[in-house]
Amino acid sequence: MQKFLFVGNHPCLDFINTQMIVKEEPADLLGGFEDLISWLLQARVLAKTQADVVRAELSHDQMSSLLEQAKSFRATLRGLAERLVASKPVPDSTIITINRFLSQRSGYPQLVRRKGGFEQRFHSAATPAQSVLAPLAEATSDLLCRANVALIKKCGNPSCILYFYDTTKNHTRNWCSMQLCGNRLKVAAYYRRSRGKASL
Ligand SMILES: [Zn+2]
Repeated sequence: MQKFLFVGNHPCLDFINTQMIVKEEPADLLGGFEDLISWLLQARVLAKTQADVVRAELSHDQMSSLLEQAKSFRATLRGLAERLVASKPVPDSTIITINRFLSQRSGYPQLVRRKGGFEQRFHSAATPAQSVLAPLAEATSDLLCRANVALIKKCGNPSCILYFYDTTKNHTRNWCSMQLCGNRLKVAAYYRRSRGKASL
């Protein structure tokens, strides 16, 4: 199973982060349709029952088309994140794209029992193909409506393309993760400093 990074603190940003730099080369973790389904499951954007229906009912062509739509939506979301980080306005075309996916979100909420209480779950009345990307559009809409967009940040490593929502108390998070970028840059800075001293 494809391994994904969940460092974004938000499904919209984690979805953008399915494109990353590995060994200085751009890598796309959504290699095939099954990777997309696997990501949606791991991100808890899609329920397992829905995933089973999608796998069983979609034709090969529908799967390829959905993967293309997902990648195109991801490109829109990456553009959105870039603009938000640069304090630029959100273009109308982005809102139109999000609304197009949201309009496929037909269904209704249902109350279900869970251990120790209740939970409200969305019962989708959309076709399997429609139900796949709409929740991601809803997450994006939620991010724009409710989140503090000033806390959407790009990793401080200039050669890293990952985004995250900074939920640290003092909003001081700089890195996608310490293992991936934080430590590496700290070590590089340390060597730069110690080399500087040695040459004095
Ligand atoms: Zn990074």
